[in-house]
Amino acid sequence: MGNSVTEPATERHDPECLFCRIIAGEIPSERVHEDDLVIAFKDLHPQAPVHVLVVPREHRRDVTELAQEPQLLAHTATVASRIAADHADGDFRLVFNTGKSAGQSVFHVHAHVLAGGKLAEGEL
Ligand code: IMP
Repeated sequence: MGNSVTEPATERHDPECLFCRIIAGEIPSERVHEDDLVIAFKDLHPQAPVHVLVVPREHRRDVTELAQEPQLLAHTATVASRIAADHADGDFRLVFNTGKSAGQSVFHVHAHVLAGGKLAEGEL
């Protein structure tokens, strides 16, 4: 959250958040893409031959919040598509776990890009 009332509401950083800390470079990650809006890095515990997380730079809790910014949501999906094309054959699964019971463990929105072979049906 911003410290100043003049700071735009869109500029959000949570110093307690794991992914905010990765974005800030405080925690190392294996980045495969970065631009002004999102970064993408390899998942620490890959569940497919290609398993990359696409993460908006500014802190948003989940895809429900992200959906309030359709351009940022679209950009996240576009970057995911490019990663699947660059690192695999272009086929991919895009997953936003949303809420604890759906398996969300990091409450900074991220798209899982799973690719690189025949993916199992069902759970991430
Ligand atoms: P979620 O369970 O959908 O919230 O996904 C969080 C993901 O973050 C999991 O797939 C974890 O393996 C991954 N993860 C946790 N810590 C790190 C890290 O430090 N670097 C990269 N991925 C991480």
